[in-house]
Amino acid sequence: LFISFEGPDGAGKTTALNALVPLLKQRANQDIVLSREPGGSEIAEQIRKIILAIHDEKMDDRTEALLYAAARRQHVVDVIRPSLADNKILLSDRFVDSSIAYQGGGREIGTKEVAEINDFAINGTLPDLTIYFDISPEVGLSRIRKDHEGEMDRLEKEALSFHKRVHSAYLDLVDANPDRIKSINANQAPEKVVDDALNVIINRFPN
Ligand code: C5P
Ligand code: MG
Repeated sequence: LFISFEGPDGAGKTTALNALVPLLKQRANQDIVLSREPGGSEIAEQIRKIILAIHDEKMDDRTEALLYAAARRQHVVDVIRPSLADNKILLSDRFVDSSIAYQGGGREIGTKEVAEINDFAINGTLPDLTIYFDISPEVGLSRIRKDHEGEMDRLEKEALSFHKRVHSAYLDLVDANPDRIKSINANQAPEKVVDDALNVIINRFPN
């Protein structure tokens, strides 16, 4: 079982995932693997550093999209497919929808183009379920500014207009993939968000 977690910066995915894993462990009789993107495997984490550490120089938008896709490819091969082959539950903090929303929408490369290079990278490996944490760009940004002002990465520092495009691309993805993507309201108390995410998983996979 492959479940991805998506949403704009500041939606609280990572926090919710850390609370969700022990709750799922109690219920499931399969092992649970928590992973993340960009990164999740040795090589993919190195690519993550290249993408996020650039400060003074401008990385070309398509270079950035290709690096995310390359990191994803390695994550799929090193972690996702082996976990699924071992009958584990693989939870990924971000997956292909992040690229479609951030590089396709945010960077305005085009969602179709970004989906195409990612089809090449993932070659058929898609989540069984995607939980989308919905938050308005304004609230999301104010949360990350409050939580870690001094250490925001260069993508989090993008203008509000960038984050609005990301958000709107996410909403389009939710509309276009009603069977795979379930949206939850991330602008609620953290315990309620975790509860909603857990209920989505239980409803979809009752056993
Ligand atoms: O989710 P996390 O905070 O680890 O993501 C790291 C950064 O990478 C964030 O600023 C996020 O906006 C950005 N990102 C991106 N494109 C992706 C995935 C993440 O710009 N495809
Ligand atoms: Mg972040």
